[in-house]
Amino acid sequence: MPVFDSRSFKNHEQVVFCADEATGLKAIIAVHSTALGPAAGGSRFWDYTSAHINVAPHDIAVQRGEEDAIYDVLRLSRGMSYKNALAGLRLGGGKSVIIGNPKKIGSADLMRAFGRHVDRLSGTYYAAEDVGTSPAMLKHASETTKFVCGLEHGEFGTGDPSPHTALGVFIGIKAAVKHKLGKDELTGVTVAVQGVGNVGRTLVQHLLSAGAKVSVTDIVDANITATKALGDITVLPLEGVHATDVDVFAPCALGGGLNPKTIPEIKASIIAGAANNQLEREGIEDEDLRKRGILYAPDYVINAAGIISVESEVYREKQDSAARNDKIMRIGETLTKIFTASDSEGRPTGIIANEMAEDIIHAANAAKIGAAAE
Ligand code: NAD
Repeated sequence: MPVFDSRSFKNHEQVVFCADEATGLKAIIAVHSTALGPAAGGSRFWDYTSAHINVAPHDIAVQRGEEDAIYDVLRLSRGMSYKNALAGLRLGGGKSVIIGNPKKIGSADLMRAFGRHVDRLSGTYYAAEDVGTSPAMLKHASETTKFVCGLEHGEFGTGDPSPHTALGVFIGIKAAVKHKLGKDELTGVTVAVQGVGNVGRTLVQHLLSAGAKVSVTDIVDANITATKALGDITVLPLEGVHATDVDVFAPCALGGGLNPKTIPEIKASIIAGAANNQLEREGIEDEDLRKRGILYAPDYVINAAGIISVESEVYREKQDSAARNDKIMRIGETLTKIFTASDSEGRPTGIIANEMAEDIIHAANAAKIGAAAE
């Protein structure tokens, strides 16, 4: 099974395979870069052999079990390096995947065993919540390692990052609307939100407060009901939500929604939402979007506020909420820089963002090597 030859391997510093016989733990921890600080990123608990996949979109067609897990952890850890770099954080990029169905095998003991593996990396990697893991599960991991962040307990615990992520996405939507539609305000701007979970629902609240006209869809009725309580919203059918005739399409459910089938049907002029890995294949799809005149806010740039909110926890600092909010506000400026470069260079926003992040990481690496040589 290839790792170095995998198409998602991009000079990762370290990839660790972890197992624990007693609990059935099988996990992979990937540290993409520590140039800017300790690698931080979520722990995804996913049954890579199941028929339902939402993480690495190429996987929709073919399930290859562990190979998918490797692809996923390599791609996601690199994404974290880029996200943390463009958010101006003192954090590198890493990610971990635990293989299996969390409902079946996600015991407290398994999470403790996972924590022991994280601990062996001595702070090179900090684990956080992700798809399939909960604050309670991370609490169990934190019993065997201190290298866990996004905790709801403890002196430096920063808790649920979702409200911050929603604020960052709202700031990003405002920047995109200003750039594409020339509007300073969201009054009357139409937005379709796909997925009104933790992030989507708070985003709807911000949008309604700003006077936007909001429509939503979700596979869970209770989440629609909770969102209806926030104000005047329209409920859309699940199918074809990407093709809704709105100004902004905000994917806030799962990844892989932007692909050769959906892109030709999109009517929105802006795509800006929280979901990770929105593009089925980076580079190809974002060029297709650009050619269609659709402004795409790169997912890892617009959804960075969650990791912004946990930075202080990694450094065992009391959170300075003003400094944190300042970094969240800067998501809008970073996006505007990316949009402007994309326009002037005639290249996709996703590629521009990747290059900007790589420049920051390479500069930090060069500075480290220079300092070591002195
Ligand atoms: P969540 O699980 O709370 O919400 C996701 C919502 O999407 C749920 O209500 C779910 O029912 C719905 N959904 C799932 N499939 C759907 C479909 N096909 N159509 C419509 N709705 C569907 O997750 P969240 O924390 O709100 O995160 C949303 C997205 O943002 C995820 O992709 C996540 O990886 C990403 N993200 C979240 C954070 C964070 O701070 N929570 C940070 C960065 C990125």
